[in-house]
This record gives sequence, C-alpha cells and structure tokens, in this order.
Amino acid sequence: MKFKFSLISMLALLAFSFSANAQMLNGSTVPTSEGDLIINPVSHASFIMSWKDKTVYVDPVGGVGAYDGLPRPDLILLTDIHGDHLDGTTLAGIVGNAEIVAPAAVVAQLPAGLVERAVSLPNGGIAQRLDITVKAIPMYNLTEDRLQFHDKGRGNGYVVTFGDTRVYISGDTEDIPEMRALEDIDVAFICFNLPYTMTERQAADAVNAFRPGIVYPYHYQGSDLALFGSMVDEGIEVRNGNWY
Ligand SMILES: [Zn+2]
Repeated sequence: MKFKFSLISMLALLAFSFSANAQMLNGSTVPTSEGDLIINPVSHASFIMSWKDKTVYVDPVGGVGAYDGLPRPDLILLTDIHGDHLDGTTLAGIVGNAEIVAPAAVVAQLPAGLVERAVSLPNGGIAQRLDITVKAIPMYNLTEDRLQFHDKGRGNGYVVTFGDTRVYISGDTEDIPEMRALEDIDVAFICFNLPYTMTERQAADAVNAFRPGIVYPYHYQGSDLALFGSMVDEGIEVRNGNWY
C-alpha cells in the first residue's frame, strides 16, 4: 500500500514538472503535431517559445531580471548585432547550458565563454537541435535611405520547425523577395518600424504575399499596429502580444 502511494506521488510530481514550463509562461498557444507551442513576448524583439519540454529564446536583451521566473533556455536564436537583439550581459546571465544559433557577425561579438556554445549559421544554413530545425533566412534593407541599417548577409531571420508547425521570425528587414516567397508558414513574427525596417504597408503586403496562418507583429515601436492589422488580408489571424 505504501509503495502504491509513493508511486502515485512520484507520477504526480513527474506530471507537475513536465507542465511547470507551461505554467510559468502566459503567452498564447499554437497547436502542433506534438503538443502546444507556447509563445511568450518579452519586449520589442525578445520573446520565448516553449514546446514539449524545450524552451527557445529569441534575441534575449533587457537584463537578466526580464527573464526572472521564466523557464531557462535550451536554445537561443540571435538575429543581429544591434543592441535590441544582442546584449552580452543579458546572454551571459541567462545562458545556462543553452546552445546559441547566430550569424557569424553576431558570434564574433559574443562575450568570452559563449563563443564555444554558438553555431554560426549563414543565410540559407540549417541547424538541427533538440528535435527543432532552424533555417536561416536573409534579412536586410531594400530602400536606398535605409540601406545602412542592415546589410544583406549579416543578420539572420529564421524559420523554426516544431513538429509540423513552421514559425518564421523576420528579424530586422524590409519586405524582401525571400520573405514574400516563403511557403507553408503557420506563425510569422513580422517587424516594422522606421527608419530601421519597413512601413506598416510593406509589412502587410509581404504578409499578404506569403499568407501565414497567424501573424504576430513585433518590433513595431513607434508604428501603427492598428493600421498594419487593417491591411492584412482576411483569413490571416493577427495576434497582438504584450510587447511594450
Ligand atoms: Zn531591431
């Protein structure tokens, strides 16, 4: 009888620890072939995705305190060298045992001790980690007076695959042909803000071209979220997160 009781307690404990990640995150969910993907905005370009028992951080900046109480990262994706995407102090404080995927220009600026944790991925490169596939997508400016912000080839957007669900993270970019040509994207994180990236109109036009199932506007400080939403075609769900 005693044995039976402890077995039940152990199972209960196990079930609790498996769901603990989910309980610490309060973001919205997207069903995948292998359980829900939980999406948790942190701020501006920084967010967390949790899937199965794995946690992926994207561009974690803003200080270690911004991640208090959240599950530790297993994988960290970095897009570019600018301070709203790369912060060595935050990274060093939260990295734990996580692996980092980043373009070479970012790896070159990682603090000492983190470089050996990093996989350098060029545009078009693919990395497979923890059942998760990460493909690097170009991100760059097209408009003449914005070309100085993001050179083609320096930064990475990503398509991240969780089970059968494909998530696109734009990084800082305009409505480049590589974005418009994306296929089978279930969830898309799309930036817009001037002068660094693109207008609401460019962002909505690109989204209407590759038609993700769900679009999360992010990295839109100073822009008109409602204007963007009003220009996205019907049939594409616009989800607004608590970014600012
Ligand atoms: Zn940025």
